[in-house]
Amino acid sequence: MNKLVKEKFADQYMENLQRITLKSFEDTSDKDRYDALCDTIMGLINQDWRRSKQKVRKERKAYYLSAEFLIGRSLGNNLINLGIYDEVKELLNEMGIDFEEIEDYEDDAALGNGGLGRLAACFIDSAASQKLSLYGYGVRYREGIFKQAIENGFQVEYGDSWIKDGDGWSIRVDSDAKIVKFRDQQVKAVPYDMPVVGFENGVVNTLRLWQSEPFREFDFAKFNNFEYDDAVAEKNRAEDITRVLYPNDMQRAGKLLRLKQQYFFCSASIQDMVEKYKRDFPEDLKFENFARYHVIQLNDTHPIMAIPELVRVLVDENGIYFEDALAIANKVFAFTNHTVLQEALEKWSFDLMEEVSPRCLEIVEQIDKKLVKEFKDRGFSDKAIDPYRIVTGDLVHMANLAIYVGFSVNGVAEIHSQILKDDTFKEWYKESPEKFNNKTNGITPRRWLVYANRELTNFITEKLGTDAWKKDLAMLKGLEKFLDDEKVLDEFLSIKQTKKDQLAKYILENEGIKIDSHSIYDIQIKRIHEYKRQHLNILHIIHLYHKLKKNPDLDFTPTTFIFGGKAAPGYFRAKGMIKLANEVARVVNNDKDVNDKLKVVFVQNYRVTYAEKLFPAADVSEQISTAGKEASGTGNMKFMLNGALTLGTLDGANVEIFEEAGEENNYRFGATVEELAEIADSYNAFEYYSKDEDIKDVVDSLVSGEFKDQDSYYFLDIYNELIKPQNGGRADQYYLLKDFASYKETQAKLNKEFRNRKEWARKCLKNIANAGFFSSDRTILEYADDIWKID
Ligand SMILES: *Cc1c(COP(=O)(O)O)cnc(C)c1O
Repeated sequence: MNKLVKEKFADQYMENLQRITLKSFEDTSDKDRYDALCDTIMGLINQDWRRSKQKVRKERKAYYLSAEFLIGRSLGNNLINLGIYDEVKELLNEMGIDFEEIEDYEDDAALGNGGLGRLAACFIDSAASQKLSLYGYGVRYREGIFKQAIENGFQVEYGDSWIKDGDGWSIRVDSDAKIVKFRDQQVKAVPYDMPVVGFENGVVNTLRLWQSEPFREFDFAKFNNFEYDDAVAEKNRAEDITRVLYPNDMQRAGKLLRLKQQYFFCSASIQDMVEKYKRDFPEDLKFENFARYHVIQLNDTHPIMAIPELVRVLVDENGIYFEDALAIANKVFAFTNHTVLQEALEKWSFDLMEEVSPRCLEIVEQIDKKLVKEFKDRGFSDKAIDPYRIVTGDLVHMANLAIYVGFSVNGVAEIHSQILKDDTFKEWYKESPEKFNNKTNGITPRRWLVYANRELTNFITEKLGTDAWKKDLAMLKGLEKFLDDEKVLDEFLSIKQTKKDQLAKYILENEGIKIDSHSIYDIQIKRIHEYKRQHLNILHIIHLYHKLKKNPDLDFTPTTFIFGGKAAPGYFRAKGMIKLANEVARVVNNDKDVNDKLKVVFVQNYRVTYAEKLFPAADVSEQISTAGKEASGTGNMKFMLNGALTLGTLDGANVEIFEEAGEENNYRFGATVEELAEIADSYNAFEYYSKDEDIKDVVDSLVSGEFKDQDSYYFLDIYNELIKPQNGGRADQYYLLKDFASYKETQAKLNKEFRNRKEWARKCLKNIANAGFFSSDRTILEYADDIWKID
């Protein structure tokens, strides 16, 4: 921003501030100042936004349908992408405004659970930055994912009404509202458009989030008749549809409302596309070219209702034959799978489908009938068709619908895509191998490095002599030249120390816990889930604690173990894992015998904004899922990019991280997918328990009374899961005991090697230099080239 523009910005800002508040500058609050800043930036974006929209009107576009967009805050990110972050910060400081305080006025737009939602947010950033016409469609939940507090060591959930004080980053577009019809309800879908600013390139794409509203605010006659509750019943029922984001991660819940929510945003989005198509291509009455201009990426199973909905709109509202409509759908839809956990592959019962959209159910049955006929014609028996069926009994299998109708199915890391072919969808792979492909996930370097780690950003730019790497992350490879430069390694270590100091301060302010910023920061932050195995980490901490108690002079590098993550409110065992982490923290942190060596912190309310402070400060990235269970992971990439070493299993994108940066520069442990498959039928967790003293010691400590769960039975539940066969299955579903010894040894090795600071720094730099592959710019360009065919 040159001087002139800066002055103009300042004038505009003051004008907005006074217009919004009617106050003189001195009387304005931080909130006023934040609001005026949003306003000024939105004004700045406006022209590019309109131009970008106009430019791609008659071009082929990709549409990313996702029930989740885990955006976080927008202020800093938009300033970074506009290329005016430093200038605006300076400008405000000159005006006597503390920029960081202003920033804290923004609530996270936490419209997602975890990785899947954050991926969608990284993708729209990368698409705009790569000048790709990608349109995001999602839901404007009034309540984002719950706010988590830890009380007495237990997770407590609070509401997250992120827009109660307004939303400075959306524009409501009433003129584009749609009517969504359920079996016995009709609502208005009102779009709120958020600008998606490309990185320093003048492109502004759109994320359109739909909000459900009634046709009328209240029933006057009823109100007049003193029936106050009834007068607003319809309003409430309509608003309920987009009231909450279901905070269940990979488990099903809230059935009817959830399916309504899915159909709601799919229907509104499809209607929007068809309406705009008719506006821009009025001559194509038969929709012969619809597929030429549209490709729709379905982010997991949640938006699959878009398939019958497109067919419905084409057939019922535009007079297209069913066969032709389905042929269009065949060319339009592509499906991304995010998990191999069976419970997450959505199946909806007939009665729910019927209640939401009877016509879509009819269409789904029609599609299934066609599928059966096709397979029969090719000589398949009824039994052989079964695994492909969209409808079995009274259940609709959403994944089968997407794979059959769509033209592309992708997993999100090499190993995951292989498992889809070998296992999860093996029958489909045999039938339609050409549909299957891999798109290894990525993260946007703008948020996760340029914004979150200014110090490391400046270091990289200085070393590479250019900042072009922000758009082309593969350029980080140029850092390899400094691997043996002691001065540069020292510089890196000093930056890491700065970030660790900053995190220590933040944790003290937010959690009231003092941590030693010279200890190893060993961090596991992600949703709490058994397959992610936070309890393996915790059991190991108990082991270390016991060892240090017995031998206080043990040769051990002081370590701070940091956890963060939310548990689905109805997921009993995950909540037990949180209680266990906090109880171990309480015991360890209050024991003076070990206190200068061991600390445990569970940070509250892990979210994008907290993540931005945690990743840059980490030394060790805990990626310890059971091999084969984590589809990709993206947290692992954020750590790598910020110079933390991965302590991980051969799972998800860890495999590719080890490949890119070298296994010798990270810490791999544990059984592989193949090894686990081999022992699956004979695995006996109890044997590991009875034969390994360390395992027995830590497992027994769950029920010895050393750690107290206040009669919640949380710890007994974990104890039972680990060593007692559970309802028909084996004990220790996730092989904690199998991997314990390997984890322990690898931790010990790491703990020792951390002390060789130069060698450690070298490994960190090696990881950063090879993190280029994990830019979501690379991922999104692969989607654009291989699947979407847009440029
Ligand atoms: C990156 C990210 C995730 C995903 O973490 P994984 O370790 O890949 O599960 C979840 N939540 C937030 C807030 C994130 O930023």
